[in-house]
Amino acid sequence: MLEVSGLTVRFGGITALDHVGFTVDAGQLVGLIGPNGAGKTTLFNCLTRRYQADEGSIRCGDTDLLSVAPHAIVELGIARTFQNLGLFPQLSVRDNVLVGAHSHARAGFLSAALRLPSVRREEARLGTEADDLLDRLGLTAVAEHPATGLPFGTLKRIELARALAARPKLLLLDEPCNGLSHGEVDEFEALLREIRAERDLTVIVVEHHMGFVMGICDRVICLEFGRKIADGTPAEVQNDQAVRDAYLGTA
Ligand code: ATP
Repeated sequence: MLEVSGLTVRFGGITALDHVGFTVDAGQLVGLIGPNGAGKTTLFNCLTRRYQADEGSIRCGDTDLLSVAPHAIVELGIARTFQNLGLFPQLSVRDNVLVGAHSHARAGFLSAALRLPSVRREEARLGTEADDLLDRLGLTAVAEHPATGLPFGTLKRIELARALAARPKLLLLDEPCNGLSHGEVDEFEALLREIRAERDLTVIVVEHHMGFVMGICDRVICLEFGRKIADGTPAEVQNDQAVRDAYLGTA
């Protein structure tokens, strides 16, 4: 599904990604780990075209991803969550989720724009989908509440709902467990297992919570200073001396 090759990103004198290469098969759940500043979020920013790559290539299915416009990424079936939450605080929870649904439906809306009843039907369909997602993620009770002021664990679930509303095939999760209690991490792990199976998702997850990563991932990739230093099963990566020296010794 995804083939990253020789991916290099520089910021002035800093090489955030240094010839990184890996593949992800459809349906896999891949963990991306490494110390702070290793380049994990930069990789997500390349996959979603927020950052330009200096070298390398990314193929998503048959598509050369680096030639796709940033706004068209969602049409390729890629959606993400953000480490620092990408919600609209003043909008209701439901409207935040509808933003994700609309991003997917954009092309349909343009073609339907001349036929108002079609637009209304499309709006109704997206509303129903958003309500189903809110229900699935236990957010119905707060659906009309502004996102601001809600507990952090709830905000994380809204982020997930917003990303899922875009109907992704490839879901990129940036530190979904950050700031969650142990109980919330366990709940999130169970939810992700279910949703992944229900929606036939391929997932890449950046996460520092090693219990979560080792428990749920099929494969784990470790970056250090922008370079890939390990790629294998959770057990292989956990026992890799370079990973222990660079990261796990302090995680
Ligand atoms: P963390 O676990 O702390 O989130 P990370 O592995 O996600 O870290 P990145 O955020 O990708 O690391 O950062 C990799 C390197 O690139 C860091 O040195 C960072 O300062 C630098 N960097 C990232 N984005 C930018 C930017 N927009 N401008 C300049 N430098 C950047």
